[in-house]
Amino acid sequence: MKESLHLILEIQELDMKMIRLIRLRKQRQKELEQIDQLRKELYQQLSEKEKEIEELTKNIDALELKIGEVNAKIKKLESQQSLVKKADEFNAITQEMTAAERERIATEQKVSDLVDKRIAEEELLDKIRQSLKTSEESTKALEHEIQASIDLINKEGQQLKNERDAMAAKAPQELLHIYERLLRNKKDRVVVSIENRTCSGCHIALTAQHENLVRKGENLVFCEHCSRIHYWMEAEPAEGAAAATKRRRRRVASA
Ligand SMILES: [Zn+2]
Repeated sequence: MKESLHLILEIQELDMKMIRLIRLRKQRQKELEQIDQLRKELYQQLSEKEKEIEELTKNIDALELKIGEVNAKIKKLESQQSLVKKADEFNAITQEMTAAERERIATEQKVSDLVDKRIAEEELLDKIRQSLKTSEESTKALEHEIQASIDLINKEGQQLKNERDAMAAKAPQELLHIYERLLRNKKDRVVVSIENRTCSGCHIALTAQHENLVRKGENLVFCEHCSRIHYWMEAEPAEGAAAATKRRRRRVASA
């Protein structure tokens, strides 16, 4: 069990690296999406502004057509008036002409207002075009940089995967499946050591009996609080042994 767990621990470290890589890639992809979103919004603004201007031009054209018609009407009335003899008919035509003149002045005012508005909108359109151009230039380099880093992450991920596949093939399959199921749930280390008789996964205290079972390493032992797999870290006695060897050497040297 101890050796099998060692192999799973090595796989676990590769999986932790992979999880970090995947998170990093997601983050970078999000950055690319944000840049794209910003660009889309600017294009949207641009097309809305263009439509507004187009609409204004249509209105202006229609009003100018109307002015032409009113002018023609006035001319017609003028020639009619030159032919009438009776004063009341003459006056009636004068009234009609005055009304037409008024309409023309009002329409010309409207055209003038719309032309002013169009000039203002065209200035805004220019500004949007300008900022689109600036942002295109500045984001292009950034997008390349992000894409390059994503490529690198993918490459690193592929290497990790190859390494992991090779190790997984050597691992006891039943244990590997248990480990993988736990990993899918927790997305964090699931084979953890006991430190100060505490689960280093959930930090809840364990019984001496539980610790002994783990220390024996005969069976798979799960944390009863978080379901992680426990292993016994042999690091301390190993260090102690190394220190003892050093002490012995020193004694030999001094003797
Ligand atoms: Zn635990």
